[in-house]
Amino acid sequence: MDDVDSSSASSGSFPKYLEHLSGDGKAIGVLTSGGDAQGMNAAVRAVVRMGIYVGAKVYFIYEGYQGMVDGGSNIVEANWESVSSILQVGGTIIGSARCQAFRSREGRLKAACNLVRLGITNLCVIGGDGSLTGANLFRKEWNGLLEELAKNGEIDKDAVEKHSYLNVVGMVGSIDNDFCGTDMTIGTDSALHRIIEVVDAIMTTAQSHQRTFVLEVMGRHCGYLALVSALACGADWVFLPESPPEEGWEENMCLKLSENRAQKKRLNIIIVAEGAIDTQNKPISSEKIKELVVKQLGFDTRVTILGHVQRGGTPSAFDRILASRMGVEAVVALLEATPQTPACVVSLRGNHAVRLPLMECVQMTQDVQKAMDERRFKDAVKLRGRSFEGNLKTYKRLAMKLPDDKIAKSNCNVAVINVGAPAAGMNAAVRSAVRVGIADGHRMYAVYDGFDGFAKGQVKEIRWGDVGGWTGQGGSILGTKRTLPGKHLESIAEQMRSHSINALLIIGGFETCDRIKQSASGTKRRVFIIETMGGYCGYLANMGGLAAGADAAYIFEEPFDIRDLQSNVEHLTEKMKTTIQRGLVLRNESCSVNYTTDFIYQLYSEEGKGVFDCRKNVLGHMQQGGSPSPFDRNFGTKISARAMEWITDKLKGSQGTGKKFVSDDSICVLGISKRDLRFQPVVELKKETDFEHRIPKEQWWLKLRPLMKILAKYKASYDVSDAGKLESLGHHHTTSHGEPAAI
Ligand code: ATP
Repeated sequence: MDDVDSSSASSGSFPKYLEHLSGDGKAIGVLTSGGDAQGMNAAVRAVVRMGIYVGAKVYFIYEGYQGMVDGGSNIVEANWESVSSILQVGGTIIGSARCQAFRSREGRLKAACNLVRLGITNLCVIGGDGSLTGANLFRKEWNGLLEELAKNGEIDKDAVEKHSYLNVVGMVGSIDNDFCGTDMTIGTDSALHRIIEVVDAIMTTAQSHQRTFVLEVMGRHCGYLALVSALACGADWVFLPESPPEEGWEENMCLKLSENRAQKKRLNIIIVAEGAIDTQNKPISSEKIKELVVKQLGFDTRVTILGHVQRGGTPSAFDRILASRMGVEAVVALLEATPQTPACVVSLRGNHAVRLPLMECVQMTQDVQKAMDERRFKDAVKLRGRSFEGNLKTYKRLAMKLPDDKIAKSNCNVAVINVGAPAAGMNAAVRSAVRVGIADGHRMYAVYDGFDGFAKGQVKEIRWGDVGGWTGQGGSILGTKRTLPGKHLESIAEQMRSHSINALLIIGGFETCDRIKQSASGTKRRVFIIETMGGYCGYLANMGGLAAGADAAYIFEEPFDIRDLQSNVEHLTEKMKTTIQRGLVLRNESCSVNYTTDFIYQLYSEEGKGVFDCRKNVLGHMQQGGSPSPFDRNFGTKISARAMEWITDKLKGSQGTGKKFVSDDSICVLGISKRDLRFQPVVELKKETDFEHRIPKEQWWLKLRPLMKILAKYKASYDVSDAGKLESLGHHHTTSHGEPAAI
């Protein structure tokens, strides 16, 4: 949304947290380099606004390093308004380029001259590993470059003294997610959205014609997009550069395809990373795969190469939030940098923002390539990180069923049930649980229509093939009811006894919803008041607000009164008197009994008379509808696979001992906590839950509230307490709290 105003920067009343971070007298240059990615604009916006907020000057450097070398009109001071209305725009408004000149010292000398003349000694680079390597080199050479410039008489000696250090912070913008050290790079999630949209579309036509589709996705050196897309659509086969298929794959693949067809599956999807290779490092092209399928099986086979579509379109909510958080964190890192701090990248671990030494990450990223070149593929997968390894393992488990006689029977029956409101991603979770359960030797049962159905005996065995194609489906195929088990406890216990159910996997929760699917648009001066779901949980309103650049988001967790409403209305009225056209206010459905959506709508309408008009929209159930996003599909799949593995472990542990589930930790909830996946005993959760409002007592995302306000130009304080330290890359691999949570 458009969120500018014409008053000067808000450094007047400086919040306590940021006192040590004054940007006064500092100048920050921001550039985007290498291939573009959706979400880069959100990062640029956050850097500019956070920079201005702390009192620094921020300069756009247009066209990547080329603009830095060329100088002149390529380096321009940015203001609050120059980044308005770009949050939802794909690509990068400041341009990106590959620049040969910057690879030479001569080019970098020119760049240094252009920067130092404007007093820019802080650089924020958004790009891939090449761009970040360049930035690091530049930082190392900086002092020498300045001395050379002084010697040539291009700058005076004082300038060398005054600007003796260049601080560098990187943000990884790359759709490939090919950078070690960060769970997600800016643009990856949006690219996955594009791919999944295409796969969903293709699946309908493939279904009609009984076709095989070979889909080529980007990733010359990194198979992340291919792997996660394959997980998200339940592809029959996937080809990755890091994990080439074993010798004889041609036959295995054809066997798998024909087996799937024999199970009445009307289509096959094969996903190929652009850089797929075999164990001899020979490329495996989409055409080659097609020829093979046609020749061996005679299936009608088509190739689709996605290409640049993957870079296009609007950034997803995830990318906007990720990039906004990274941008703010980057500015904090620049202001905290000392001559001793190495260049760092800001990145994401689970739902946690961290800083990592740039060159260690670059080195590790290059090590992956080296491992692949040397055909050490196991190492390559390991070096990509545990999240990648976990994805690969999960894909293999879910895609390939061992023959029945090869699966050791556990003699355990496990049931899966959906409860609560239907949420996108639930079906993916059920599919994954059923398949992992079967692979672990259990007999799997599905419970239909929640606890109601359970009590009535709607329990049936569910097999591998029954859950085929479930990943992409919205809602809950098993059916779900809001009823709690309380009143049916006896009949449910009876059902569990009669079906000999040893363990129950419950998929659902208090209020779980998919992301907000609507963003406001219009041409007149208009404020949109949008009501979001979530019961008392303000997550959707808050994160939706961050992703859409909202002016206010009212939530239950942060009580507000008439004074807050007044100040918000005044803030917005002032803003709307300037060049801006639109405002956005989100209101969580249960944030206040009396300040209803209608009340807020009427208040803004009255106060905005003559300046703007208002529209309100209650999003309602459309938030739960539609097909699940790639994140929800993978999250559902992965978390459910972990849950089933945990159940298997527990069942094994109690086998033979005659022990029933009695201990506290036999009833757990699995979720992301900070950066890890964590099983938490329900008894513990009880203490941490506000049952009246059905929300946790502590909500991690509340930390992000001030961020939205800062970016909408309120005088909020930003708590930087969980950041600020440079971590070592090793942490990623040695964490004792289980595996990294990213999907
Ligand atoms: P992508 O992931 O999209 O390929 P990238 O940042 O890795 O992004 P590159 O083409 O490798 O893309 O690098 C972008 C630019 O960064 C180069 O055109 C060059 O200007 C600069 N650059 C890359 N590597 C170096 C280096 N070793 N020294 C100096 N500059 C470099």
